[in-house]
Amino acid sequence: MPLKISFHGAAGGVTGSRHLLETDQARVLLDCGLYQGHRKEALERNKNLAFRPRELDAVLLSHAHIDHSGALPLLSKAGSEALIHCTKPTHEITGIMLKDSARLQAEDAKFFNKIHKEDGQTIEPLYSEEDAESAIRRLTPHAYAEEFEPARGVKARLLNAGHVLGSAMVQVDLDGRRVLFTGDLGRSKSLLMETPIPPGGVDTLIIESTYGGRLHEPVADIEGKLKKLLLRCAQEKGKIIIPSFALERAQEIIVVLEKLRREGAVPPIPVYVDSPMAVSVTEVFNRHLDAFSFDDEFMAYVAKAGDPFGFEHIHYVRASEESKKLNEMDGPMVILSASGMCEGGRILHHLRHNLDKENTTVLIVGYQAAGTLGRRLADGERKVKIFGMEQEVWAKVELMHAFSSHAGQDDLTGFIRGLPQKPKRIFLVHGDSDQRQALAEKLASEGVGGVECPGFGDSFDLL
Ligand SMILES: [Zn+2]
Repeated sequence: MPLKISFHGAAGGVTGSRHLLETDQARVLLDCGLYQGHRKEALERNKNLAFRPRELDAVLLSHAHIDHSGALPLLSKAGSEALIHCTKPTHEITGIMLKDSARLQAEDAKFFNKIHKEDGQTIEPLYSEEDAESAIRRLTPHAYAEEFEPARGVKARLLNAGHVLGSAMVQVDLDGRRVLFTGDLGRSKSLLMETPIPPGGVDTLIIESTYGGRLHEPVADIEGKLKKLLLRCAQEKGKIIIPSFALERAQEIIVVLEKLRREGAVPPIPVYVDSPMAVSVTEVFNRHLDAFSFDDEFMAYVAKAGDPFGFEHIHYVRASEESKKLNEMDGPMVILSASGMCEGGRILHHLRHNLDKENTTVLIVGYQAAGTLGRRLADGERKVKIFGMEQEVWAKVELMHAFSSHAGQDDLTGFIRGLPQKPKRIFLVHGDSDQRQALAEKLASEGVGGVECPGFGDSFDLL
């Protein structure tokens, strides 16, 4: 039976993960992510799906990040009734993310239409909260490694990908052939997640390449660096402001801060997690403690206190009045807030109130895309604009790259070498072209054959 794969996103870029597997009998979509980037291009690509949503039999979702899940409501909007299969934690987190995405789009559109009232330009949200709710109702959770039949003649399993809570590699068996889609792949050694294990019998591998050309700093450096910054913060009575993504990054930092507090390695500096979404996602983490790979000492603590995310000691801030109060309070304190690239949200208010102070530290822990405020700060710019107003930067800006939840080049090549059976074909997706090219070259130098770098819209027949 012919088997075709088409790449409708994250092919030569890192967002909009959507890949379609088709046989005569079944159509299965791997992920349905949102494009992010320049408004006009993203809008076009998000609006125009290159396949018919009503004809899909099933969607297999690797994890909750919005560039993998954020376009699911577009399927509902177009009348798709296909079930969306994912792991249990992904089910819970995707629910939070999609509702938030719909709400943000409505707010964005309202703001855009207000400031363009004069020139008559208008935009509409891509989808409504009802579309998001309808997608959420079709999410179908499975345990890791459980076999299920998403469509006629198709068997599937979700395997730990070690990237974020609930993240899965999607293994699909069709007509005697095995396709493995890694989704986003974690590092071989990370702070919280179990190492992903390469499964056997894979004929076709679709693997991410976000950091195909980069080696990460070791996670072992994290505690020492954070401790130094906390000691300085205590001495200066300043604020450490950490722009952080709500999923995984925030919880990793919380775990390390909580560990340093517990061990008495730093003075008891108050920590505020000022992001309603991060608070909700951390609650999901607390319900899935068995999913993590903490060290023995930490597990002993969890068994005794049951509180790795410091709900007793760390201040979780939901209400905006409470968030505003932080502006008037003196340091030392640590504030974790979203968005992770300082593009919106409460982090902007914290930066606006504190960037001009010498005893402020801005700690950058995640990827900062070109053109974002986070990138400008990371690049050391001394004057930035927030809400259109110029702001001088007297704060110290520190960078920590050790927190990445994506595999580095050595993790990716190690994963491929670790597959018990050599795949006939390897498709590199989800990486900017320089990173993807670097990985392709590295694999070629190691004698790995059958490597393809598909472009947007490309289709391949699989043997
Ligand atoms: Zn991801």
